[in-house]
Amino acid sequence: MTVVTRFPPSPTGFMHIGNARTALFNWLYAKNTGGKFLVRIEDTDRERYSEEAVQVILNGLEWLELDYDNEPESQFANRRRHIDIANELLAKGMAYKCYCTPEELDAMREKAKAEGLPTYYDRRWRDKDDSDAPAGVDPVIRIKAPLDGSMIVEDEVQGKVEVQNKQLDDFIILRSDGTPTYMLAVVVDDHDMGVTHVIRGDDHLNNTFRQNVVYDAMGWDKPTYAHLPLIHGPDGSKFSKRHGAQSVEEYREMGYLPEAMRNYLLRLGWSHGDDEIIPTDKAVEWFNLDHIQKSPANFDFAKLENLNAHYIAEMEANALIDSARPFFDEELTNIASQRMLEGIGELKKRSKTLLQFAEEAAFYIKAPDSYNEGAQKNLDTDGLEVLEKIIPVLEGLSDVTPDSVMDACKTLAGEIRDGKLGKIGMPLRAALTGSDKSPAIFEAAAILGKDESIARIQKAIQAFK
Ligand code: GLU
Repeated sequence: MTVVTRFPPSPTGFMHIGNARTALFNWLYAKNTGGKFLVRIEDTDRERYSEEAVQVILNGLEWLELDYDNEPESQFANRRRHIDIANELLAKGMAYKCYCTPEELDAMREKAKAEGLPTYYDRRWRDKDDSDAPAGVDPVIRIKAPLDGSMIVEDEVQGKVEVQNKQLDDFIILRSDGTPTYMLAVVVDDHDMGVTHVIRGDDHLNNTFRQNVVYDAMGWDKPTYAHLPLIHGPDGSKFSKRHGAQSVEEYREMGYLPEAMRNYLLRLGWSHGDDEIIPTDKAVEWFNLDHIQKSPANFDFAKLENLNAHYIAEMEANALIDSARPFFDEELTNIASQRMLEGIGELKKRSKTLLQFAEEAAFYIKAPDSYNEGAQKNLDTDGLEVLEKIIPVLEGLSDVTPDSVMDACKTLAGEIRDGKLGKIGMPLRAALTGSDKSPAIFEAAAILGKDESIARIQKAIQAFK
């Protein structure tokens, strides 16, 4: 049997991190088993539908590098088939038309509430004859759910889950306006797409029992189910906006790498011994449904950031600079990327995100046109004196390397600042970077080169004299 998994998001306008994890698990399971990973857009809510909202999801998958087989399906486009199945169930006697008025349904609801019943619809049309149908009323079609006994789902994560059939109602599969309901559509689509494994959030576990009523009524094979515990916030409560970023797009904009994101989302609910760092190739090799956690996982921002720092450090230098490109305010010139390549070690060490990388590396693109508060403090009279004296020192260097710059600055410190190298380094840093924090400054000076460094020093002297 070829495994077929699916990711069926509703286009809500953003891709929630929980959805991204669901997509990842489905993708990994398909890759691990040599199966297929399919995407279906659950776009039947036409009032909320927009082309852009669909694109957001596809962009999210693309960014996360979760490739899928076939073109994404549209659930809405399959509606004719859903209607056919509703009619087929009707013809088979597995479903029936219900002509209840809203008032009747309200009364049933009240009654069920008063009696504490698990469901409210009293099945009054289940065994009635069509000749009883009131004139001029468009009926809904309801499925005949089993009346007694129980239904068992052997869930790969939750284990054996049993529900008494009296908990299930004769739910609607086709509305009175002729549109199919979600409960029907999802089963028909999963069946038609050949889905063998449904891996999704455990907020859908209740739906599973109702969806199985449709499978049974059609005599179709049911998929294997794996219901994932939800993601909680760091404090263990429901993950919400107040905890921090909810959507994949936000993490992308903060400068997270897709590989770090995948590793983090994988660990958020799945384990492989004590391994924390699991690159995607290993994840594909190791992923299974056996090691999905049974309890909710708490989102840990620091852990995600540390993983991101790890993947930044591991990344090939050119690829890293290229990934950081959208985060620079200025156009990345060839000379600037060459400088960044030379200073990559320091830049990597100081960057947990691509955004930080771009901030740290910005001075390699152009001379500062402003100086932060710390830098300004270092450009006082003492600082300017140091800068005046550094110029001839740099001019005198025949070979400009991090070591030769540092040695020359050490000598200068000995001459004018009691050997305190920081008193030389800080004004130099301020002049070259416009900041009081930056990568190792003697290395940075060597990378910028003699002419550029001197030009920046002169610019700072001009500005603060
Ligand atoms: N469209 C549903 C959602 O976004 C998916 C339901 C399913 O996986 O069956 O939650």
